[in-house]
Amino acid sequence: TTSRPRSEALYKEALEHIVGGVNSPSRSFKAVGGGAPVFMKRGQGAYFWDEDGNRYIDYLAAYGPIILGHAHPHVTAAICRAAENGTLYGTPTELEIEFARMLKASTPSLDKVRFVNSGTEAVMTTIRVARAYTGRNKIVKFAGCYHGHSDLVLVAAGSGPSTLGIPDSAGIPTSIAHEVITVPYNDLAALDEALARWGNDVAAVMVEPIVGNFGMVMPKPGFLEGLCAAARRNGSLVIYDEVITAFRFHYGTTQTFDGLPSGTDFAAIEPDLTALGKIIGGGLPIGAYGGRKDIMAQVAPLGPAYQAGTMAGNPASISAGIACLQALQEPGTYARLDQLGAALEAGMSEAARKHGIALTINRIRGALSTHFCDHPVTNYDEAQDTDGEQFAQFFRLMLEQGINLAPSKYEAWFMTTAHTDDDIAFTLQAAERAFSQMAR
Ligand code: PMP
Repeated sequence: TTSRPRSEALYKEALEHIVGGVNSPSRSFKAVGGGAPVFMKRGQGAYFWDEDGNRYIDYLAAYGPIILGHAHPHVTAAICRAAENGTLYGTPTELEIEFARMLKASTPSLDKVRFVNSGTEAVMTTIRVARAYTGRNKIVKFAGCYHGHSDLVLVAAGSGPSTLGIPDSAGIPTSIAHEVITVPYNDLAALDEALARWGNDVAAVMVEPIVGNFGMVMPKPGFLEGLCAAARRNGSLVIYDEVITAFRFHYGTTQTFDGLPSGTDFAAIEPDLTALGKIIGGGLPIGAYGGRKDIMAQVAPLGPAYQAGTMAGNPASISAGIACLQALQEPGTYARLDQLGAALEAGMSEAARKHGIALTINRIRGALSTHFCDHPVTNYDEAQDTDGEQFAQFFRLMLEQGINLAPSKYEAWFMTTAHTDDDIAFTLQAAERAFSQMAR
């Protein structure tokens, strides 16, 4: 059992100066019963050490980017080299070309790309570009998919399948929420209904092709194919938000993923625009968007859609991204992540069964999500309809045993190339003890 007096003290102090004590609300422990989050001091490989000297096996992976583990030597060296040559130029560099080539080689739909600083910016801009290109204003998104914190995508479903959105945050005008239509993921009939009603106004359908934001959820066979076909028929663009999925399951995006054994033919469908982030920055801030040449020609300085950034394409982020992608090209990387994920899934399922805990695990290679429920999770309603208190208890019991998870029942566990078989075995022992306690 860990004791964390320094985290407690630092949290008190942080609350005095930083709103809520955290620089992103997902880091607070609000969703798991409150209290001080753990203040980490150092990360190395699969491990974190907190301010009190406790060690944790980390499956948060910073919400996804840290797929190589913390402080991977190849990435660290690239960052140091970049820093020695100046971190920010405000001019073009050759590095940006090299990185753009790497992204394009991984994903044929990316004729042209632009680098930005976060997933939020990437998504926000794809919407502007889609609106500029189509001359339409509305977008369709899917309930429970998170696309960053910009106005248009921070909108929840209205009260029925064919109603306009309602703001998910204070400070978003209803008029903006009314430009968004939210339909259930994996539900083509609802999408058809929305397009039948508002189709002429819909600039784009925005989707996480594989969901990472209410657990890991695969598209049902035919869903993405049907979505793309419906959007095309309607003259709307298709935007893939691949901020979580890019380079997660294989070297590339979902657009080049074999997807087995899901039944979706990912390679047969192509979005018009794609948003990227997380892994492609190797742990430094980054985002990118790209797509078809004629659509991307809308962007300034070529076209009328404005998007800019003082920090965009900075040599440090680009160097870290190149190094990360280089390391991911090592043969066997994704098979290894898959193997780690499979071992964790099998062991946890078995332990949950043994202790009579209802647990649905969704896993796609090295990413998995744990849902305390006895039904499948294929959309946001099903993900919400799980036992949050049980998750909170599990989260705390795991933390006490040195396992760091995201403090939310919706977030995934991410395997990294730094995790070892021993780490998995240790984690499974901890899970076994947690389930045993929860069963009491
Ligand atoms: N899109 C998706 C699918 C995401 O998961 C996230 C972040 N979790 C974002 C966009 C926003 O990215 P960022 O936090 O870098 O702004």
